[in-house]
Amino acid sequence: MAHLQGSALGCIFAPLMRVNTVASLAEKIRLGLYKTAVITTHHKPDGDALGSSLGLYLFLKRHIKTVHVVSPTDYPEFLSWLPGNEDVRIFEGDEAACTQLVREASLVFCLDFNRLSRINDLGEIVRTSEAQKILIDHHLDPENFEDHTYWDNHASSTAELVFDFICNHYSYNEITPEIATCLYTGLMTDTGNFRHVNTTAHTHRVAGELIDAGVQHTEISERIFDVFSPTRSKLFGYCMYEKLEIIPELRTALIYLSKEELERFQVVTGDTEGLVNLGLNIENVVLSVLIIDRSKLVKMSFRSKGDFAVNEYAEKYFSGGGHKNASGGQSEDSLENTVAKFRETIKLYEKELNAL
Ligand code: 5GP
Ligand code: MN
Repeated sequence: MAHLQGSALGCIFAPLMRVNTVASLAEKIRLGLYKTAVITTHHKPDGDALGSSLGLYLFLKRHIKTVHVVSPTDYPEFLSWLPGNEDVRIFEGDEAACTQLVREASLVFCLDFNRLSRINDLGEIVRTSEAQKILIDHHLDPENFEDHTYWDNHASSTAELVFDFICNHYSYNEITPEIATCLYTGLMTDTGNFRHVNTTAHTHRVAGELIDAGVQHTEISERIFDVFSPTRSKLFGYCMYEKLEIIPELRTALIYLSKEELERFQVVTGDTEGLVNLGLNIENVVLSVLIIDRSKLVKMSFRSKGDFAVNEYAEKYFSGGGHKNASGGQSEDSLENTVAKFRETIKLYEKELNAL
């Protein structure tokens, strides 16, 4: 089959529900009118957050003299091989210098989040900066803090949107193997290896185009998924054997972890990534929940199947949000009280959970 070239791909196949107000800005970038830009993404970046940011970074460097990626926090070691990783600045612990970068930027790109609270203290610095702010995102309920929007909650990932942005407003030919590698990582991780309901025909087409652009997909998969440390493997085994609780009448799987357990398994950033998904592998389970006592907060991850909108539940009870089938939330209460609150509030959804 003939190769689906460049902007035609984005125009013909990209879904139409998208909010896109970036056309004139994209043209000005192409004309070289901006000299400084910062790209930022959400707290504890995952494969899509970092992959989309670095893909855009490597692309923008072709058009803008000075571009920086500023992450609010650190991220998993299994993402540190991504092209461009060595240039990422971490705000936490380097606040003054990173603040300066944002203050000096003409453009601030906000990727894979749509509320400034998702980037911690960096949020107010971005909000008060004089830069033009550009949102590229696929989460529901945007806060609308930005000046230019490239948003579509039907996109599988922010990486897919960055691909479409480049193809629609520039050219497919600008996608180098390094850019493709970063974007493919975002697609692959946010779709759970092209399995989740957010995976569309367009997602597969984009993945194909990225492979044509030079992606070594087996190598990426191995670098992301086949790098468990022995302690991480044991943590997963421990959770499945000792900690997993199934609440059959609510078709729910629950795991919670204390600070002591995190220490016992020497948990580092990224070690619990993917753990919540295991609950959904269980027959008849439609809701999986992971509750972890992190240093400052109790952090929660929710995954569901079908029509149970975990983002609404997370927002209502645990100051959270995300996607319909994959969301997060948090609590300032103790682990014990948070688990108790979860048990009580989820009972209210017995009918919905059993109707699926
Ligand atoms: P995870 O469970 O992997 O941390 O997050 C799943 C999804 O929910 C991601 O899309 C993430 O951006 C979103 N998410 C996680 N935690 C929060 C939160 O505290 N607030 C909001 N609004 N979204 C969250
Ligand atoms: Mn994402």
